[in-house]
Amino acid sequence: MTVFHLATDLDGTWLPGPGQVPDLRRLEATLLAQPGAVLTFATGRTFLSALEAIERWGLLPPQHLISDVGTALFHRRPDGSWEEDRAWADRVAGHWDAGAAQRLLEAGLPDGLQVQPGLAPIRRLGLQRAAGADMADAGRKLHLACEAHGLKADILPSHDLYFDVLPPGVHKGAALAFLQQTQDLPRPVVGCGDSANDLGLFEFADHPVLMPAGLDDREAPPALIRRARRASFPGPRGIHEALAAFGLLDEEEHDH
Ligand SMILES: [Mg+2]
Repeated sequence: MTVFHLATDLDGTWLPGPGQVPDLRRLEATLLAQPGAVLTFATGRTFLSALEAIERWGLLPPQHLISDVGTALFHRRPDGSWEEDRAWADRVAGHWDAGAAQRLLEAGLPDGLQVQPGLAPIRRLGLQRAAGADMADAGRKLHLACEAHGLKADILPSHDLYFDVLPPGVHKGAALAFLQQTQDLPRPVVGCGDSANDLGLFEFADHPVLMPAGLDDREAPPALIRRARRASFPGPRGIHEALAAFGLLDEEEHDH
């Protein structure tokens, strides 16, 4: 029996694009037939938004769910309900100055920045650049605003649109490392993603898998890009192919 831990981003990675639902169902069936495989979703979505995606696509539920770019971690109970990992929540909260974050929001965000609409993020801020604003310029202003309000944070730009303002040292990879250690999960860890908020995931994974349309050299350290396997196909089919290429699937499918 092959054991491994598959930690995957959702949007642009696991969630099927047009015409990719059959690929997703094949990948899920393959994982179900692998009793030694552990599945974790690691997303920038909030917990509720991740649950919505699981519901909407009828996804095979993962055993663990890292939400909010790593600031929250949940475990699925045998009855299908979810439980937040309090130890991780406490650790992240210890690095997050909620008061300073609140002061920054109350003082008004710098020009060119806005709060991501409809988002209730946990222990972080989810911002985006305003329409027409320059990403680099908005990023500089955001750094200055954090400094001015005494908010110690990591600012993670992605998709040429978003800014995740995170507790220092907290990201998907840090949550994954904590999960791996505290739950004594199997290795190797396969980490799949497509954007800059997956860099921590790639760093921690034994086998980083970068989706075909994901990150380029401008957005990621070249060494990390070189270490990652670039998936040959977009979406679930690319992940499936990568797992097979790593020799992790007990029974290879030949219908591709
Ligand atoms: Mg993504």
